[in-house]
Amino acid sequence: MSTNTNSKITNGYSDFHLQYIAGKWQAGQDNSVNTDVNPYNDDTLVAIQQATDKQLDEAYQAASAAQKEWAQQTPAERAAVMYNVVNILDERQEEIVDWLVKESGSTRIKAMVEFGSARAITLEAATFPSRVHGEIRPSNTPGKENFVYREPIGVVAVISPWNFPLHLTQRSIAPALALGNAVVLKPASDTPITGGLLLAKIFEEAGLPKGLLNVVVGAGSEIGDAIVTHDIPSLVSFTGSTSVGKRIGELANGGDYIKQVALELGGNSPFVVLKDADIEQAVKAAAFGKFLHQGQICIAINRIIVEDEIYDDFVERFVAHVKTLNVGDPSKKETAVGPIINTKQVESLKEKIAKAQEEGANMVLSGEIKGQVVPPHIFTEVTRDMDLSRNEVFGPLVGIIRAKNENEALSIANDSMYGLSSAVFTADMQKGLRFARGIRAGMTHINDISVNDESNVPFGGEKNSGIGRFNGEWVLEEFTRTHWISMQNTPRDYPF
Ligand code: NAD
Repeated sequence: MSTNTNSKITNGYSDFHLQYIAGKWQAGQDNSVNTDVNPYNDDTLVAIQQATDKQLDEAYQAASAAQKEWAQQTPAERAAVMYNVVNILDERQEEIVDWLVKESGSTRIKAMVEFGSARAITLEAATFPSRVHGEIRPSNTPGKENFVYREPIGVVAVISPWNFPLHLTQRSIAPALALGNAVVLKPASDTPITGGLLLAKIFEEAGLPKGLLNVVVGAGSEIGDAIVTHDIPSLVSFTGSTSVGKRIGELANGGDYIKQVALELGGNSPFVVLKDADIEQAVKAAAFGKFLHQGQICIAINRIIVEDEIYDDFVERFVAHVKTLNVGDPSKKETAVGPIINTKQVESLKEKIAKAQEEGANMVLSGEIKGQVVPPHIFTEVTRDMDLSRNEVFGPLVGIIRAKNENEALSIANDSMYGLSSAVFTADMQKGLRFARGIRAGMTHINDISVNDESNVPFGGEKNSGIGRFNGEWVLEEFTRTHWISMQNTPRDYPF
């Protein structure tokens, strides 16, 4: 197997109308077409003939066949592919960032954040082949030794969303492959390139053996269920909404097979500002943590909760700061808020704006919605029962809730069916730690935004935000299976 890449890149990747199945770039054979458009100007980027069930099966068969040999490769050989991927990412950074801007409506700032995260998890994954290890455990049976092996799972089904397509796909597929598994990936329909086909080109160029990574672009109605229920994958790694995640969980264990599932789902992150906080810093953090990628991030700030004494001051400074943000063309370096991914999401945001007003929230900042660009909307005197507080907004709208004191702030923060990320601002680190430990969520950041993801610390949520953890040794466990093997070294004395 050759894992060298001598690429001197002169051309951008092309032929994104084809899919990567069984190591071949082939046309989808379904009658339906996925038209991939730029959400800012509606330009058609590519039209992809979608895949059939039969092509999905071909992908799974190829993945299963290729995985056995891949699992036998030395750690150094598997790591080398990951390092090659990192080099290619670096060489093609501009090309990748450009695709993120035009396909997912990422501002350049967000595209760079996403590129950095995808690169970091690839580097982390490069260490996995040599970090995975077993254990020897004592036995209460005379003459017995217990070995605990960690083995590849086999074939992993990956289903990823459109909001951070490159990173959220890569954080599943890089660890899965590095640990000796094969992958069949279904990217989101809005981002088939940055969420899948672009990564397939990169892994192919990096020397990943054929068949190990398959990217299947298909309609949910044609291949949506089959990707989960097919008998080959033993783990389904899903990142997306809670409603679809619940269905995936049911499907994965509703048929003939019990499959492991890793579900990274929706969020409703509270951002709490206590009365002793540095208000100026909290204002800047709130603006970035809310409006990065137009608020379309699972860990974006969804509710701002401010202690009564500083509420009015915070609101005044926050509104003044948000008014200075540039809204519009995501390709312009100075743009902070770009377009919403599709018209369906824009409609859902319009409904949320109307509902917030109906429910009695005070709209203190708004603006004209032009095409798919929705400017920041801020609502005050929002209560914990309003739609803006209860549900994931996934857009540039935010409600600010007034809390009587620290206790009430904590009670509001925890009053949610979700438990993904969260944040608290305070000058008192002891208080901050106590408050953070009181929050039922997978992640809490003191004096920072809820939007954080580092490749070596556990990322994930509880409650309706899902099960499982990404990154570091947590994903290493998730994407391997445990096998207890015992060895009876002396004849055992059986009772009968
Ligand atoms: P979504 O659930 O609509 O789609 C996610 C993926 O599932 C897409 O690839 C989609 O094509 C696929 N899908 C949809 N229906 C399916 C079905 N019936 N069977 C199989 N696959 C199906 O989510 P989205 O709109 O792409 O992403 C936004 C949501 O994802 C938000 O709720 C957000 O909070 C969540 N999210 C969570 C995380 C996390 O790490 N927890 C990260 C990003 C996004």
